[in-house]
Amino acid sequence: MDQIITRFPPSPTGYLHLGGARTALFNWLYARSKNGRFVLRIEDTDLARSTKESVDAIFKALDWLGIDWDDGPFYQSERLDIYKEYIKKLLDSEDAYYCTCSPEKIKTMREAAKASGQTPRYDGTCRDKGLKNSEKAVVRFRSDSFGTTVVEDVIKGSILFQNSEIDDFIIQKSDGMPMYNFAVVVDDITMGINTVLRGDDHVSNTPKQIALYKALGCMLPVYGHVPMVFGKDRTRLSKRHGAMSVTAYRDMGYMPEALINYLVRLGWSHGDDEFFLKDDLIKKFNIKNIGKSPSIFDPEKLLSLNAEHIQAASIERTSACLKPFLEERHTDEIDSSYLSAIAGTLNKRSKTLLEMADGALFYLENDIDYDKKAAEKFLKPIVYDCLNLLIDELKQIASYTQKNQEQAFKKVMDITGLKFGKIAQPVRVALTGKSVSPGIFELIEVLGRERVLKRLKNAVLYIDEKR
Ligand code: GLU
Repeated sequence: MDQIITRFPPSPTGYLHLGGARTALFNWLYARSKNGRFVLRIEDTDLARSTKESVDAIFKALDWLGIDWDDGPFYQSERLDIYKEYIKKLLDSEDAYYCTCSPEKIKTMREAAKASGQTPRYDGTCRDKGLKNSEKAVVRFRSDSFGTTVVEDVIKGSILFQNSEIDDFIIQKSDGMPMYNFAVVVDDITMGINTVLRGDDHVSNTPKQIALYKALGCMLPVYGHVPMVFGKDRTRLSKRHGAMSVTAYRDMGYMPEALINYLVRLGWSHGDDEFFLKDDLIKKFNIKNIGKSPSIFDPEKLLSLNAEHIQAASIERTSACLKPFLEERHTDEIDSSYLSAIAGTLNKRSKTLLEMADGALFYLENDIDYDKKAAEKFLKPIVYDCLNLLIDELKQIASYTQKNQEQAFKKVMDITGLKFGKIAQPVRVALTGKSVSPGIFELIEVLGRERVLKRLKNAVLYIDEKR
């Protein structure tokens, strides 16, 4: 086969949702895995519902996911001349004709068909009238009403359609705008698309599209209709199931790696493997392992995968992803090596970057606030001497390695007779304001001498004031 050319053709009528992102990902991965090309096309002929905001949101989401395209973005609204040319071809070959039936007439036709238990369809009134173009005329495709059309689907196998189910569908509206099935076929032909992977909600459009290809004398692409994603209640995925737009996941602190990993597993598998990185996927992705049954969206699984990706990513990568969240919360410039050190203490204990950013704040604040309960419980007069002793010990040690710190704590334990836990917990509250935090030694090491001593002294003052 020639070079694989796939496409992602979203209609910009809203944000990029998970189903759309999965379709984009499958097409992108397939193109990348085969050294092919990936085309981005914006299907914006529905002028009333398409918006610039949606187009921008789609770009942002794809950019965040790292799904790049080789050709495009093409806008259908800028390709009207091409559609006109193809309409002319079909009119010339009499595969299409003008129809002037009024909407009322079509409605009556549909109702009559329904009443007699048949599929509503256009009855062919204008089929053989040889009408010319006129103000209210639409263009209809002359469908074959006999025989069958078989969609050879690489995911679902052969799907048989009775041609009698397909009526003379409209390909150009009276305002001159192309209809979806027609525009898609013209675009796919002119853009050289030879592989169409899309949601199986489009499967019923495919016989119409095949008929158009045949009338235009063009080679069919390979079709693969990917089963839908459902919520746990087996209904079509929506916000109700906790499924948000792609960018909402970014804002909730998900790593793009995690979302990519989760999306690919919604329908595709590779043995029992669950954890994938993009480069891995480019090597392993194939159409044959796309499943035939619908996938179920599970927000908890996505969350735990996110935690795994946060853990697995390099500290540089995690810090870069964490930075914007911290900048939203903390306006001062953050030193990059301090940021990396901070991330290193939190990456094994955070499920999202948002959680990580919240957990990192105490590192950055100049004056930390004590959690009321934690302070009441741990910053008590009984630890006053102990904190002072620790300050003295920590002042003396040259570097805050774990070994040096252990020795300092040991001395304080020996002098005061207190167990490690009894000292560590007040120290933790003094340093972080909270009773839960990363390990005490890594905390001290990352905070560094100046902050540690200042915070311990503040805790001593705090206890002193309360005595
Ligand atoms: N614009 C269509 C959609 O967003 C794409 C249809 C197709 O892939 O052919 O559903």
